[in-house]
Amino acid sequence: MRRKLAAGNWKMNGSIPALDMIRKLNLAHPECPVDVVLCPPAPLLGHALQNTAGSPVMIGAQDCHAEEKGAHTGDTAAPLIAEIGATHVIVGHSERRAAYGETDAQVAAKAAAAQAAGLIAIVCIGESLDEREDGRALDVIETQLAGSIPSGSAPETLVVAYEPIWAIGTGKTPTMDEIADVHARMRAKLSDRFGAAGESMRLLYGGSVKPDNADNIFALDNVDGALVGGASLSAEDFSPIITALSES
Ligand code: PEP
Repeated sequence: MRRKLAAGNWKMNGSIPALDMIRKLNLAHPECPVDVVLCPPAPLLGHALQNTAGSPVMIGAQDCHAEEKGAHTGDTAAPLIAEIGATHVIVGHSERRAAYGETDAQVAAKAAAAQAAGLIAIVCIGESLDEREDGRALDVIETQLAGSIPSGSAPETLVVAYEPIWAIGTGKTPTMDEIADVHARMRAKLSDRFGAAGESMRLLYGGSVKPDNADNIFALDNVDGALVGGASLSAEDFSPIITALSES
């Protein structure tokens, strides 16, 4: 049985007052049957954690460095993210792959660093619009999955998020069949590589998940939750997504 997960990626948005949404989520989901993680920008991590006492909401970072420490101005070490009490870190988001040229190997190294620090790595993969239109989406996903996931991964330390680049922040989503096909392929490949553990690794869909499409997406096989961008910025949008996941 895979525990479902609703993860919110605030990207470079939010503020200290905006963290009040954690209190609203507490009130709306006192006995939450699914995991909920919010990933605010790094300067807000400490403040966010102060708001989570007695809350089902966990806190994650949006990136980490592959090394434990050192001369890497501006970067964030995974052990430090763990030390302050955060539990997850997103790695390999397509915005970072595009803006900083992060490769699959670098993403795998970051995920391994996160796991070594005791964090759960949320590894993002996803095809571009050209790749989807050329019929190469499944091949691209397979390559990214093989290259971005460290070999020591286990269900307790790894979550994979399928995020088609062209669906992020656009209001567009793949068809339900397309999402189901990608998730089935990811499950098959993880099972080939990790055996029974691959069956227990959680697979999220991400890309324009909203309150009005969440039910359909969460009804799909092998969709164990969502990585949510824009709709995770307010309790009004994120809460119904958590409810849809809880009821799926
Ligand atoms: C994301 O940034 O990971 C994302 C899925 O964004 P959105 O939900 O806004 O498409």
